[in-house]
Amino acid sequence: MKADVIVLGAGIVGVSTALHLQSLGRSVVLVDRGPPGGGTSYGNAGLIERSSVVPYAFPRSLTTVLRYALNRSSDVRYHARDLLHVAPFLFRYWRQSSPRNLQIATRAMLPLIEASITEHDALIETSGAGDLVRADGWIAAFKSPHRLAAAVAEAAGLASYGLRRVVLNPTTFAELEPTVRTGAGGFCGAIHWLDPKTVADPGELTRRYARLFERRGGKLLVGDAASLAEASPGWSVTTEGGPVTAPDAVVALGPQSGSIFRRLGYKIPLGIKRGYHRHYTLPAGVSLNHAIVDEEAGYVLAPMRQGIRLTTGIEFAHADRPVDARQLEHAERLARQLLPLGEPVEATPWLGRRPCLPDMRPVIGAACRHKGLWFNFGHAHHGLTVGPASGRLLAELVTGRAPFVDPAPYRSDRFR
Ligand SMILES: Cc1cc2nc3c(=O)[nH]c(=O)nc-3n(C[C@H](O)[C@H](O)[C@H](O)COP(=O)(O)OP(=O)(O)OC[C@H]3O[C@@H](n4cnc5c(N)ncnc54)[C@H](O)[C@@H]3O)c2cc1C
Repeated sequence: MKADVIVLGAGIVGVSTALHLQSLGRSVVLVDRGPPGGGTSYGNAGLIERSSVVPYAFPRSLTTVLRYALNRSSDVRYHARDLLHVAPFLFRYWRQSSPRNLQIATRAMLPLIEASITEHDALIETSGAGDLVRADGWIAAFKSPHRLAAAVAEAAGLASYGLRRVVLNPTTFAELEPTVRTGAGGFCGAIHWLDPKTVADPGELTRRYARLFERRGGKLLVGDAASLAEASPGWSVTTEGGPVTAPDAVVALGPQSGSIFRRLGYKIPLGIKRGYHRHYTLPAGVSLNHAIVDEEAGYVLAPMRQGIRLTTGIEFAHADRPVDARQLEHAERLARQLLPLGEPVEATPWLGRRPCLPDMRPVIGAACRHKGLWFNFGHAHHGLTVGPASGRLLAELVTGRAPFVDPAPYRSDRFR
């Protein structure tokens, strides 16, 4: 089989890239070893995070670093035995999180974040996924008044970004979420961010986008990206439907992208921030209407089609270390104090791997030493959010169109 472009990886990033290439007139074969949206894109918290204009940086305050060093926090945990393995990434991440570098990262990510809702909206409409998406924002909730006050001041400092938000006190919070605990032992207030959208099943959203790709004539094939080889001209990959060749190939394998670029000699410092989720039933009379982030404990509770999805913060460990349920159990204990969750839906937690670059922005663009090879990975905490926008950018670069944002900050050769 011949195509114009092979896209490796059918997560939100690969599927979005394939759709945009297709709409720019390219014939595309999308290859994954499993069904679309079955990787990291299945299990995230479902936030299309238009309000996250500042990327997640490594903390620079000594108090916070010491708190994390004790390894008892629910938001960040590490496996002591894997520390040497993750240390080079952590060191680069820390260096890139200086106030000046964070400003650079914020500027670099802003065009993608700003385009996130409009790019999703176009795909949601044409793929018929409107039933999965809600447009009533998410709630950043706080238990301690001083943390709330600091967050309100920080949000006021973002005024130039024009983000819509409402500060909630216990009364207005309870109007939105009558069965979430407020007041003594509960939340003292919150910021309700109004611009983001939320997705009730991010894996299904990716599948709907993939079905749109197929309806428009795209081919979705099962295959192992490890079979990617140089062909003359271009690239070939082996799939269950037979070998496929194309002049261009895109690596959009999320956390597994290193399996290709390392073999080809690229030294891109892709790291992994692991994270878990589990779903819970809700007892009769209990409800959750919005995604709520417990900002002090670092977990998210989000109403999903499968139940209430509790997603954890970050676990630093070897990517292949088996599931360790302790972080999720810790978050679950804290969450139960605020919302009477019912039984877990699954026997064990789901483990996901956020693909992260230390400078807090993805790699989107040409592989500098191989003609016809392109990269689109490393979207960290915001792959669901910016997947469609970065798919559009990469498709414009592959097809030689004027890119809708400056691609320079995402170049693959920016690392030394
Ligand atoms: C707990 C958690 C919560 C999150 N919450 C949010 C959120 O609320 N909002 C947000 O914007 N982002 C969130 N994220 C981040 C987001 O989920 C990721 O950035 C995004 O899903 C990455 O998408 P991707 O397409 O790059 O990778 P993936 O979805 O992992 O897709 C990669 C694909 O490549 C395939 N693949 C891998 N290796 C091979 C191979 N050898 N051969 C063939 N196929 C292969 C996989 O099967 C997979 O389908 C969260 C992440 C986690 C872990």
